[in-house]
Amino acid sequence: MRAETGGASRVTLVSRRVRAAPPALTCGDATIDSPVVHERGEPDGAAVTRLGLFGGTFDPPHVGHLVTAVNVRHTLALDVLVLMVANVPWQKVGSRPITAAADRLAMVEAAVADVPGLVAGALEIELGGESFTADTLAALAARHPRAELFTIVGDDAAAGLTTWERSEEVVARSSMVVVDRPGEPVQLASDVDWIRIEVPRLEVSSTDLRARFSDGRPLDYLVTDPVLQVIEERGLYRGAA
Ligand code: ATP
Ligand code: MG
Repeated sequence: MRAETGGASRVTLVSRRVRAAPPALTCGDATIDSPVVHERGEPDGAAVTRLGLFGGTFDPPHVGHLVTAVNVRHTLALDVLVLMVANVPWQKVGSRPITAAADRLAMVEAAVADVPGLVAGALEIELGGESFTADTLAALAARHPRAELFTIVGDDAAAGLTTWERSEEVVARSSMVVVDRPGEPVQLASDVDWIRIEVPRLEVSSTDLRARFSDGRPLDYLVTDPVLQVIEERGLYRGAA
């Protein structure tokens, strides 16, 4: 079934089914009984009814992230879409050096500063340790008790859903939203009711950007100016590979 909701963005609802009731609110081993975290620039917790979680390493954040975020927010009529900065992106650790979380957060804050409805998420950094989307959703649900939650992923990340910590909790707590990235189609878990949203496909990745920093190729139009300014001020990606 495909439903057009106008403009350039489209949403496809794939075999929606009734979702299981979410499990009790827990974060790791601890039960969350009060909001412990906040998002930068986020509206009042209770007022949010539709909230998107777009998690990533954002090392650095680029136009692919931003184009995805604004289009998903528009198509799903989200009150707010959080670009959640992973504290320790456990699936990437060991494969390459990861820029400090505080620097990645500063870049995301700069990226969304003037964009209505997008906010930088500091929650995973405040929680500390390895970042698991199941815990993040639990904390967001505690802070926004009236909000319907949406987890947004590019198709490369969506393809790895079954490797996520407590992925069944993620699926139970949120509607799963996927956007295609350029490249070969990937296989998605067939027992998940994916909401597929079409956004302009931009062949840009943080990996390519880090390579550009390292060999001096232009970054223009791939990263926004406020992000470049943070990179310069903090001396990031000098000698990056
Ligand atoms: P890296 O190359 O270091 O993995 P990345 O560009 O893939 O970086 P991430 O921080 O890993 O960025 O991705 C965060 C989320 O954004 C993931 O769900 C990923 O699929 C999605 N994403 C990244 N780049 C794009 C893009 N160009 N278009 C759509 N989604 C994207
Ligand atoms: Mg990635």
